[in-house]
Amino acid sequence: MSVIDEVLEANREYSRHFTSGRLPAPPARRLAVVACMDARLVISRMLGLKEGDAHVIRNAGGIVDDDALRSLIISHHLLGTREFMLVHHTDCGMLAFRDDDLRARLWKQTGAAAVAPARFYSFRDLEANLREQMAKLRSHPWIPKSIPVRGFLFDVETGRLREVSEGPGGSASG
Ligand SMILES: [Zn+2]
Repeated sequence: MSVIDEVLEANREYSRHFTSGRLPAPPARRLAVVACMDARLVISRMLGLKEGDAHVIRNAGGIVDDDALRSLIISHHLLGTREFMLVHHTDCGMLAFRDDDLRARLWKQTGAAAVAPARFYSFRDLEANLREQMAKLRSHPWIPKSIPVRGFLFDVETGRLREVSEGPGGSASG
Protein backbone atom coordinates (compact mmCIF):
# COMPACT_ATOMS: atom_id res chain seq x y z
CA MET A 1 0.00 0.00 0.00
CA SER A 2 1.39 3.43 -0.94
CA VAL A 3 1.43 6.23 1.58
CA ILE A 4 -1.33 7.95 -0.37
CA ASP A 5 -3.48 4.86 0.01
CA GLU A 6 -2.73 4.90 3.73
CA VAL A 7 -3.76 8.54 4.14
CA LEU A 8 -6.92 7.92 2.12
CA GLU A 9 -7.77 5.26 4.64
CA ALA A 10 -7.24 7.84 7.40
CA ASN A 11 -9.47 10.28 5.55
CA ARG A 12 -12.33 7.80 5.42
CA GLU A 13 -12.12 7.60 9.19
CA TYR A 14 -11.85 11.43 9.47
CA SER A 15 -14.93 12.00 7.33
CA ARG A 16 -16.94 9.62 9.47
CA HIS A 17 -16.60 12.00 12.42
CA PHE A 18 -16.56 15.24 10.43
CA THR A 19 -18.86 17.92 11.79
CA SER A 20 -17.41 21.13 10.26
CA GLY A 21 -19.33 21.03 7.02
CA ARG A 22 -21.15 24.32 7.45
CA LEU A 23 -18.30 26.71 8.17
CA PRO A 24 -17.99 29.95 6.17
CA ALA A 25 -14.82 30.52 4.09
CA PRO A 26 -13.63 33.72 5.85
CA PRO A 27 -11.40 32.65 8.77
CA ALA A 28 -13.32 33.01 12.04
CA ARG A 29 -10.31 34.27 13.99
CA ARG A 30 -9.18 36.56 11.18
CA LEU A 31 -5.62 35.29 11.29
CA ALA A 32 -3.24 34.43 8.45
CA VAL A 33 -0.09 32.42 9.13
CA VAL A 34 2.90 32.04 6.81
CA ALA A 35 4.96 29.05 7.89
CA CYS A 36 7.73 26.77 6.71
CA MET A 37 6.56 23.51 5.17
CA ASP A 38 8.73 21.50 7.59
CA ALA A 39 6.91 18.31 8.54
CA ARG A 40 7.56 18.84 12.26
CA LEU A 41 5.37 21.92 12.32
CA VAL A 42 1.71 21.00 12.63
CA ILE A 43 0.45 24.55 12.64
CA SER A 44 -3.13 23.96 13.75
CA ARG A 45 -2.06 21.84 16.70
CA MET A 46 0.85 24.12 17.62
CA LEU A 47 -1.41 27.19 17.67
CA GLY A 48 -4.63 25.64 18.90
CA LEU A 49 -6.48 26.36 15.67
CA LYS A 50 -9.63 24.61 14.58
CA GLU A 51 -11.25 24.15 11.19
CA GLY A 52 -12.30 27.53 9.85
CA ASP A 53 -10.08 29.58 12.20
CA ALA A 54 -7.17 30.81 10.06
CA HIS A 55 -5.42 30.80 6.72
CA VAL A 56 -2.16 28.88 6.75
CA ILE A 57 0.20 29.56 3.83
CA ARG A 58 3.20 27.29 3.65
CA ASN A 59 6.34 26.96 1.57
CA ALA A 60 9.98 25.99 2.03
CA GLY A 61 11.30 28.42 4.63
CA GLY A 62 8.07 30.33 5.24
CA ILE A 63 9.27 32.88 2.71
CA VAL A 64 7.24 35.94 1.77
CA ASP A 65 7.59 35.40 -1.96
CA ASP A 66 5.33 36.41 -4.81
CA ASP A 67 2.94 33.60 -4.16
CA ALA A 68 2.71 34.10 -0.39
CA LEU A 69 1.99 37.79 -1.03
CA ARG A 70 -0.70 36.85 -3.51
CA SER A 71 -2.37 34.66 -0.89
CA LEU A 72 -2.04 37.21 1.92
CA ILE A 73 -3.50 40.03 -0.16
CA ILE A 74 -6.50 37.83 -1.02
CA SER A 75 -6.65 36.69 2.60
CA HIS A 76 -6.95 40.24 3.90
CA HIS A 77 -8.83 42.07 1.17
CA LEU A 78 -11.29 39.37 0.16
CA LEU A 79 -11.54 37.13 3.23
CA GLY A 80 -11.09 39.58 6.08
CA THR A 81 -7.98 38.45 7.95
CA ARG A 82 -6.57 41.17 10.21
CA GLU A 83 -3.37 39.78 11.73
CA PHE A 84 -0.37 38.22 9.98
CA MET A 85 1.94 35.79 11.72
CA LEU A 86 5.20 34.32 10.37
CA VAL A 87 6.42 31.00 11.75
CA HIS A 88 9.98 29.88 11.06
CA HIS A 89 11.85 27.29 13.10
CA THR A 90 15.12 25.92 14.40
CA ASP A 91 16.94 23.30 12.31
CA CYS A 92 15.32 24.58 9.11
CA GLY A 93 16.43 22.76 5.98
CA MET A 94 16.86 26.12 4.24
CA LEU A 95 19.97 26.69 6.38
CA ALA A 96 21.60 23.57 4.99
CA PHE A 97 22.29 24.58 1.38
CA ARG A 98 23.03 27.52 -0.86
CA ASP A 99 20.97 28.50 -3.87
CA ASP A 100 23.96 28.37 -6.23
CA ASP A 101 25.00 24.90 -5.09
CA LEU A 102 21.53 23.46 -5.54
CA ARG A 103 21.19 25.12 -8.93
CA ALA A 104 24.56 23.70 -10.04
CA ARG A 105 23.66 20.26 -8.75
CA LEU A 106 20.33 20.18 -10.58
CA TRP A 107 21.96 21.45 -13.76
CA LYS A 108 24.54 18.67 -13.52
CA GLN A 109 21.99 16.00 -12.57
CA THR A 110 19.43 16.79 -15.25
CA GLY A 111 21.47 18.49 -17.95
CA ALA A 112 18.74 21.12 -18.09
CA ALA A 113 18.76 24.79 -17.22
CA ALA A 114 15.51 26.23 -15.86
CA VAL A 115 14.28 29.80 -15.68
CA ALA A 116 12.00 29.10 -12.72
CA PRO A 117 12.31 29.07 -9.80
CA ALA A 118 14.47 32.17 -10.01
CA ARG A 119 15.46 31.71 -6.34
CA PHE A 120 15.29 29.00 -3.70
CA TYR A 121 15.58 31.54 -0.85
CA SER A 122 18.08 29.55 1.20
CA PHE A 123 19.45 31.58 4.11
CA ARG A 124 22.24 31.65 6.70
CA ASP A 125 20.68 33.40 9.68
CA LEU A 126 17.27 32.45 11.07
CA GLU A 127 16.46 35.72 12.80
CA ALA A 128 17.77 37.96 10.03
CA ASN A 129 15.78 36.01 7.48
CA LEU A 130 12.63 36.23 9.57
CA ARG A 131 13.06 40.00 9.91
CA GLU A 132 13.52 40.30 6.18
CA GLN A 133 10.24 38.49 5.55
CA MET A 134 8.45 40.74 8.07
CA ALA A 135 9.92 43.81 6.38
CA LYS A 136 8.63 42.64 3.01
CA LEU A 137 5.10 42.49 4.42
CA ARG A 138 5.44 45.81 6.21
CA SER A 139 6.55 47.62 3.09
CA HIS A 140 4.02 46.20 0.68
CA PRO A 141 1.71 48.93 -0.65
CA TRP A 142 -1.35 46.66 -0.63
CA ILE A 143 -0.92 45.48 2.95
CA PRO A 144 -2.35 48.12 5.32
CA LYS A 145 -0.09 49.43 8.07
CA SER A 146 -2.88 48.63 10.54
CA ILE A 147 -2.22 44.89 10.19
CA PRO A 148 0.03 43.52 12.93
CA VAL A 149 2.88 41.52 11.39
CA ARG A 150 4.66 39.36 13.97
CA GLY A 151 7.42 36.83 13.51
CA PHE A 152 8.17 33.72 15.56
CA LEU A 153 10.74 30.95 15.74
CA PHE A 154 9.41 27.53 16.64
CA ASP A 155 11.85 25.37 18.57
CA VAL A 156 11.53 21.88 17.10
CA GLU A 157 12.97 20.38 20.30
CA THR A 158 10.68 22.02 22.84
CA GLY A 159 7.61 22.92 20.80
CA ARG A 160 7.81 26.51 21.98
CA LEU A 161 7.42 29.68 19.94
CA ARG A 162 9.71 32.65 20.52
CA GLU A 163 8.87 36.05 19.13
CA VAL A 164 11.52 37.89 17.11
CA SER A 165 11.28 41.67 17.04
CA GLU A 166 11.04 43.41 13.73
CA GLY A 167 13.99 45.71 14.08
CA PRO A 168 17.54 44.51 13.39
CA GLY A 169 18.48 44.93 17.05
CA GLY A 170 17.66 41.59 18.69
CA SER A 171 14.71 39.51 19.71
CA ALA A 172 11.61 40.27 21.72
CA SER A 173 11.03 38.45 24.96
CA GLY A 174 8.92 35.36 24.91
ZN1 LIG B 1 11.98 24.98 7.55
